[in-house]
Amino acid sequence: MSPTTLINLILAILIFTIAVAGGLVLAYERSCRAVFWSIIFALILPVPYLLPTLFPAVANSYYPLTLLFATALLIPAFLYNPKQKKFAPKTPLQQHDERATMFSRRELVPGSKNFEVYYTAHPEHLTPDTTWRKKPGLLNPKSVFYHPVSFAAAEASFQTISKLSTFIKGSKNKNQQKLPPRELTHFIKKWIKKQGMADVGITQMQNYHYYHTKGRGKTYNQPVTPRYKNGIAFTVEMDEAFITAAPKGSAVMESAEKYLKSGVPAVQLAAFLRELGYEAQAHIDGNYEVVCPLVARDAGLGQIGRMGLLMTPKQGPRVRIAVVTTNAPLETDSISSLAYSMNEFCTYCKKCAIVCPGQSIPFHARKMQDGVLRWKINAESCFTYWQTAGTDCGRCMAVCPYAHADNFLHNSIRYGIRHSKIFRRIAVVLDDLFYGKRPSSKSMPSWIPSIKV
Ligand code: SF4
Ligand code: SF4
Repeated sequence: MSPTTLINLILAILIFTIAVAGGLVLAYERSCRAVFWSIIFALILPVPYLLPTLFPAVANSYYPLTLLFATALLIPAFLYNPKQKKFAPKTPLQQHDERATMFSRRELVPGSKNFEVYYTAHPEHLTPDTTWRKKPGLLNPKSVFYHPVSFAAAEASFQTISKLSTFIKGSKNKNQQKLPPRELTHFIKKWIKKQGMADVGITQMQNYHYYHTKGRGKTYNQPVTPRYKNGIAFTVEMDEAFITAAPKGSAVMESAEKYLKSGVPAVQLAAFLRELGYEAQAHIDGNYEVVCPLVARDAGLGQIGRMGLLMTPKQGPRVRIAVVTTNAPLETDSISSLAYSMNEFCTYCKKCAIVCPGQSIPFHARKMQDGVLRWKINAESCFTYWQTAGTDCGRCMAVCPYAHADNFLHNSIRYGIRHSKIFRRIAVVLDDLFYGKRPSSKSMPSWIPSIKV
């Protein structure tokens, strides 16, 4: 066997092994369609490299050398990864008003003073808000996906989170411990990860991280004072098996549970910093003074994608975020290098927009919105769907190619998306092939009792 034929044979075995290994991972994930395509790839892709071994006439021609040359040419093509200006990350210039968020608007009681004042100032919100107010509502027994057990589990998580609100702030210890920023930062990151958080980062707080006015609960209408120097953001992964069943009950059960799971270390960390003698405040579900995805983005945890959520390198949007703001001296992180590749990938992908039952996600490229180039979802139509479904939907999150399981196979693909322009194009096509352009919603995990209502 000539050296060129031998190299071709080795490549054939390598490609076959990778395709089979990928197929096994996908079989473990119970993705039947993806397994089918892995088998097809395992059978077809090695064929050109096997021909010289199978047919002496081919081995004696220029074919083996030409094939190796063509394969080698693919390497620089795959390494090409320009940072195109049109995909550059952009920073918002203005502060948001929490009163304009859907959760704040949901708390407005028709006939109340706050209701009248809000809709007088924002008459454009009255018609869409009247529409969703007529729907059954989140976790409501009359909603489309009502499921007593998962809804009760979600409600239990939300009730528990609400008990945490008294711990978000507090007075600091008068005796301040002077710790070197590097050591304190290292300790915080290790401790947060030890508590099961997926990732943690720190950024210097900017005005645009803060809402300018509070919009929820007893603090409604209160101005927010940007008074903290640093923001510690962390993410917790949401279980893929629960989210891929979105918009069924398991999605809201998981979402609520992870609000709680990230909320506990947040209030704990804020208390720890106050105990050391530094001002600190936790920002957890229902108690935000900051826009968590923006803080997390600037803390290097990811970028904000087409669906308007933080997209992280390993779990994509399948995370929940909590933030602790503090005046403790800490070392900050830089913004994630995910930005260019993700903005480009989202420009091609559009899968979340295709499946969105509320037709809330735009199909167009990034546009100027509120003074910044970005995608902006239609929050009203999204929330109307939530109020109808009874869950926080999550279909966009479930189908996102970035949201596949955190394992070697999918991390390799996410790595390829991040580091190769050509791979970004290919990955969009492959994801459609392996999972479908409109992946269907999976069943809820089997241990959740299926109760007929
Ligand atoms: S589904 Fe596609 S377009 Fe939507 S956020 Fe994910 S990668 Fe971007
Ligand atoms: S949560 Fe559902 S309705 Fe809202 S943007 Fe995502 S897919 Fe659309």
